[in-house]
Amino acid sequence: MPICLKKDKNIEEREFKLELDDSLTGYKHHVFVIVGARLVQVYTRRDTGLIMAALASSEGKGTTGAVDPSWPAFYGDLHRKYIRELGKKTESYEYQVTEHLRLSGVYWGFTAMALLKAETEMEPESVVEWVLQGYRTVVIAGSSQPGTKVMGGGWGGNIGHDVHLLYTTSAVQILAICNALDRLSKEQVTAIVHLISSLQQEDGSFAGDKWLEIDTRFSYCALLTLSILPDIELNDVIDLPAANAFVASCKNFDGGYGCVPGAESHAGQIFCCVAALSIGGALDSIDRDQLGWWLCERQCDSGGLNGRPEKQADVCYSWWVLSAMAILGRLDWIDKEALIGFILRCQNEEDGGIADRPGDEADIFHTFFGFCGLSFLGFFERSGLDHMAVDPTFAMPVDTVERLKLKCQSYFTARTIKSEDA
Ligand SMILES: [Zn+2]
Repeated sequence: MPICLKKDKNIEEREFKLELDDSLTGYKHHVFVIVGARLVQVYTRRDTGLIMAALASSEGKGTTGAVDPSWPAFYGDLHRKYIRELGKKTESYEYQVTEHLRLSGVYWGFTAMALLKAETEMEPESVVEWVLQGYRTVVIAGSSQPGTKVMGGGWGGNIGHDVHLLYTTSAVQILAICNALDRLSKEQVTAIVHLISSLQQEDGSFAGDKWLEIDTRFSYCALLTLSILPDIELNDVIDLPAANAFVASCKNFDGGYGCVPGAESHAGQIFCCVAALSIGGALDSIDRDQLGWWLCERQCDSGGLNGRPEKQADVCYSWWVLSAMAILGRLDWIDKEALIGFILRCQNEEDGGIADRPGDEADIFHTFFGFCGLSFLGFFERSGLDHMAVDPTFAMPVDTVERLKLKCQSYFTARTIKSEDA
């Protein structure tokens, strides 16, 4: 029988038993915190410190909702300076080795700044110009009439590079965040849709480009990009039921998802699948408790999250794991205090930026995902810092998602526009 920590002492034990028997069988080794008649937190029994904190909180002495004095400070000004200067250090090692994915780098940096409400420091107009400059057309297969060419359009990792779905997604996201989707011509939007439709395979899966590598990451990118583009209905341009069915077929016995059917569960892949099913309106195919459990088990002793069992904690899983948990409405299953502490310890206190783990070199990828984690965990709110929440399905600031009226199935509640009934 699980242990229950009760905040409201008037509630009878048997009422908990009823609730637990109904929906929480199989959690024998866990501790449940129940406030009123609502389950608010689940801990494993080894988390003795947390359980004591929850008990203290239930007595009115807890620190939940406040800033923990043991956390390092959040170096917002330094991070902004770090991101602003990244694009200028063109001789640096980091700049050189990330040349092939510059578009994604700009997306991470720009969106990170938007979460701090500092995107104007990134000169949005020149970012938009640079993105539009990188657009390319490609001839794609799929024309039914011999001799006629179908034109597709999209972006490569940098100007002049081959078009790939990953970078096409980043480009469209940047334009969306900058409120510049209307800078794409009708012909360009049609060509991007053609490109994405042409990448869908018979079994519903998506390839990333003409080399036909299949991966559930590309399913997410396809659905995400199409849902952002103006005046496009998913059902009109792709086989949506097949797309959802393919993602669902990548589910494993542990509740997680891999890159193709039968591939090992991995948090990055799980995010892509959960978010794809969220956009595709097929969230019901997920066992939220089983997957929520696999995801919350990713928390290590350091407070950080890993991507698979037995791996080291890494800040980027504060995005991959938490965004999936946010969509599934299971964020409360994480020890938020410990994870906030871990992310803050990964900051570079001298030059700004966030690293994968404490003491490592900061980079823009982990900086962005660190901010996202802090957003999901409510850190900015608790600290009174001006910020914009990130949306877990669309990986863009909530105000962008609301402005574009993007629809999905989700249990995420920070948006003021209600998601479709999930
Ligand atoms: Zn990482």
